[in-house]
Amino acid sequence: MIEKTLVIIKPDGVQRGLLGEILGRFERAGLKIVGMKLAWPSEELVGQHYADDDDYNRGVGERALANAKEHGTESSEDPLAIGQRVRAANMKYLSTGPVLALVLKGNTAIQTTRNIIGGTNPLSADIGTIRGDLSVDDFSQADIEKRAVRNLMHASSEPAEAEREIALWFTAEEIHDYQTVMDKVLHDPAWGA
Ligand code: ADP
Ligand code: MG
Repeated sequence: MIEKTLVIIKPDGVQRGLLGEILGRFERAGLKIVGMKLAWPSEELVGQHYADDDDYNRGVGERALANAKEHGTESSEDPLAIGQRVRAANMKYLSTGPVLALVLKGNTAIQTTRNIIGGTNPLSADIGTIRGDLSVDDFSQADIEKRAVRNLMHASSEPAEAEREIALWFTAEEIHDYQTVMDKVLHDPAWGA
């Protein structure tokens, strides 16, 4: 399944000089960069990106509560309220400086990209992933400090989200298709495919 996905290297990734390191991981995996731009998003754009959707916000809150429970901190806070607070924190976080927005294309690009990035919470992200190797933070610490967890990256989680997010960040003219060696390796009969 050839897919496109939206990836954002958040302001902490730009500020820490990690663009080359992060881009290299996607390139080495064989994903094709078909769109790329440095942009300083407004809070409004980030608010559209993390749409004010009750189901999504509740899901974010439920994952925060599950994480707290795992660490022995039970809470009876409404998951929707937590998700709404995280959304407001993200609007601030992603608009504090320039971000690098990317469109990646490839076989199963959406899930492959999420695998390369790793789990949302840096504390439990697998070693070998971008978040596991390159970030240090935790949901509960972020919560105490009333900020979004610093985890370097965003990537779309499923096809409908990818389509909506790509349209939000890129015009059709800003997305380019071209051939790479990976196209040959995977799909060209002359290369044994
Ligand atoms: P992902 O970015 O892995 O798709 P989500 O969509 O659940 O994760 O959340 C969006 C972003 O919100 C995360 O990348 C992270 O920066 C922030 N975030 C999510 N949950 C929390 C939390 N419990 N505390 C602080 N920040 C959070
Ligand atoms: Mg998400």
